[in-house]
Amino acid sequence: MDEGPLFNRIAVVGVGLIGGSLGLACKRVNACREVVGVSRPQTLSEAVRIGAIDSGVDYPDIADGIAGADAVFLCTPISRILSLIEEVIPHAGAGTLVSDVGSTKAQIVAKAGQIGRADVHFIGGHPMAGSEKSGVTASDPFLFQNAIYVLTPAPGVSESVQERFIAFVRRIGAQPVVMPPETHDRVAAAISHLPQMIATALVGMVGHLDEGDGRFLRLAAGGFRDLTRIASSPYDMWRDICATNGPVLREMIDRYVRCLQELQERIGEDALGEDFGYANRVRGSIPKDSKGFLHALHEILVVAEDRPGVIADIAGALAGEGINLNDIEVLKVREGEGGTLRLGFDTRQAAERAIEILSRKGYSVRWR
Ligand code: NAP
Repeated sequence: MDEGPLFNRIAVVGVGLIGGSLGLACKRVNACREVVGVSRPQTLSEAVRIGAIDSGVDYPDIADGIAGADAVFLCTPISRILSLIEEVIPHAGAGTLVSDVGSTKAQIVAKAGQIGRADVHFIGGHPMAGSEKSGVTASDPFLFQNAIYVLTPAPGVSESVQERFIAFVRRIGAQPVVMPPETHDRVAAAISHLPQMIATALVGMVGHLDEGDGRFLRLAAGGFRDLTRIASSPYDMWRDICATNGPVLREMIDRYVRCLQELQERIGEDALGEDFGYANRVRGSIPKDSKGFLHALHEILVVAEDRPGVIADIAGALAGEGINLNDIEVLKVREGEGGTLRLGFDTRQAAERAIEILSRKGYSVRWR
């Protein structure tokens, strides 16, 4: 397989968490020869220092930044991506691939279509990987590893341009999924935007109940904390998501309210058991890896005591035998008692070997 660079020069506009990670990932896997950043000067110096970009220019010089780039990635908040499209597409060289990483797609792809340059190819993108941190200092060369990367080509983008982008996405370790932008926004509204609203509403409701009482939050551990983890998300990114996917999100909230009302009506009836049964089956069929990748990992569960170094002990034992651990998640922790770790492996053989190795070391291990 040819592992030479897929692009000569890429430009990353907005070198934050996603833009910086894109630069680092490109360098790690030799996806391009050169990465040029467009950002504020202090961001650029930090990005050069950590190796996310080779050089950079401030926003007023954006035309210089994208000159000679064969691919331009717009990695700012969505509201800024919308205005950048107007600045970038007219200045891009003929044949340039322009993409973005915004969490909604329909308005962005429509905007690119309005500029109407047939010799500049726009393919919207949404790498479904992130972190609670932001800014270039949080960049991670492995952020896209095994993540779904949705591609939403503008009408008329040729197969060969799409193939090149798909090869790039695979090269940085992600799993490309091509779909129309409207489909992306509908799916994202159901599986990401609605859950954010539910978490925000639920924590808000319990917060109000707790005021002047204190017992609600005191008891809110375990399931409540798991279900509402995303209620800690900063509003900045969500403002843009709500502004650009409002109608679909409202529709999903309506559907959800109807579902809750139906459950409410069935409380105390056996029919409620059917709802639980259906939800159990659907939940069981969701791909189990943490980044939502398509291929199922082979997973095992390890019961580990709560002591310093236990994860290092497990990972070290596997590494010592040349077993590559693809995913790790702490499922349950009881302070002082230990918890359960989920380990994911690419192949069944690797998982079987891991069971052998860890059992020999005295861990309680089973298939998930
Ligand atoms: P981030 O870490 O805050 O980075 C965004 C960068 O954009 C900043 O470092 C900033 O660099 C630049 N920028 C330009 N105009 C800006 C403005 N008006 N406000 C704030 N920053 C501005 O954010 P991110 O997490 O990388 O997100 C970037 C894009 O990726 C968003 O469109 C988001 O929807 C999408 N996305 C995020 C995630 C996630 O989980 N974080 C996942 C997938 C997609 P300068 O200060 O140098 O201008």
